[in-house]
Amino acid sequence: MKVGVVGGGIAGALLALRLRREHGAEVEVFTLGPSTPDASGVSGGLVRGYERDPAASRLAALGLAELRDSPELLEWTGYRETGSVYLLPPDAGPPDLTAVRELLPGSAEVVDAAEAARRYGFAGGDGATAVVERHAGFLSPAGLRERALDWLARNGATVRESRVERVGADTVTAGGTGRRYDAVVVAAGAWTGRLAPGEWRTKQIQFGVYRVELPGLAVFVDDVTGLFGRPWAQGEFLLGLGCDRWDVDPERVEVDTAHAEDVTAAVLRRFGVRPEPVRAVASCDGYGPPGGLRLRVEGGVRTFAGGSGGSVKTVLAASRVAARQLAA
Ligand SMILES: Cc1cc2nc3c(=O)[nH]c(=O)nc-3n(C[C@H](O)[C@H](O)[C@H](O)COP(=O)(O)OP(=O)(O)OC[C@H]3O[C@@H](n4cnc5c(N)ncnc54)[C@H](O)[C@@H]3O)c2cc1C
Repeated sequence: MKVGVVGGGIAGALLALRLRREHGAEVEVFTLGPSTPDASGVSGGLVRGYERDPAASRLAALGLAELRDSPELLEWTGYRETGSVYLLPPDAGPPDLTAVRELLPGSAEVVDAAEAARRYGFAGGDGATAVVERHAGFLSPAGLRERALDWLARNGATVRESRVERVGADTVTAGGTGRRYDAVVVAAGAWTGRLAPGEWRTKQIQFGVYRVELPGLAVFVDDVTGLFGRPWAQGEFLLGLGCDRWDVDPERVEVDTAHAEDVTAAVLRRFGVRPEPVRAVASCDGYGPPGGLRLRVEGGVRTFAGGSGGSVKTVLAASRVAARQLAA
């Protein structure tokens, strides 16, 4: 089987890796290359098993279990197991920990808002419960992508830095030249809507690096304020907030200057300390139909996209499922 994969972010790179390594497919990957920054190159890399959507949680937990068991993936990703806390809003209902308990035994516990405040410094008392995970942390999506593409180039696959102009069910046109495959998959993140039909949108994601001490805190998501973060370096934290800039051009993303002020206000409210901004990072991701990162077909064109700001967590398991579906 010969497959053309359009996109060399973590989605395209991991799908191509699975196809080549686990199914023996001939694979050609197309990418815009490092001169065109993508989400995988700057992503925060937070990973955990718990997600509010049970299907996403199963993929995230499967991926994390595979990562923790694989010396190769541990090396490729530089995974740091710091633990994680996910603060839920009061109306969230009891968290579904089925997948985490099954796939990462002993990792997760649920604590109430008072305990989350005592352990991690969350002030305000407006969270309901928090999911605390031992087996969670952060990794380098850029490292994972680079090592996967490198493996592909050394093991019989082709990685082309070439802008694809058009795709069909079994054709890719790049640089005016058409190529034919048994199957073509668009895994182009925020660019997916330019090449494939369907309800694809883009949304800005932004975080900053801040000088701040947040004792006891490692990877965290505060689903009440929208704040998320992880340790960055000694005395520094990566901190972000949900951003509502939609339909941005992935090649013209600009830092939203109000974001740093909003992060400062949220951190003051939550932790009672003022973070000092060091630098800001902005990019965007592809948002697709519900269901997250998975293989879809619309108008005869296959896509593996729609991570909606969270593909680092799900890509290991989702790429395995997608490769199996393609091979079948
Ligand atoms: C700032 C930021 C922080 C994030 N933090 C987290 C996090 O902590 N945890 C988490 O789980 N997720 C996080 N995410 C989300 C996650 O990083 C993304 O979902 C993921 O990186 C998307 O990968 P991708 O391969 O789908 O897309 P991308 O990484 O954007 O890759 C798209 C690829 O398509 C290629 N391409 C596009 N058009 C063409 C064309 N015409 N021809 C050839 N190639 C083309 C590009 O060159 C690129 O290689 C974050 C995202 C951002 C932006």
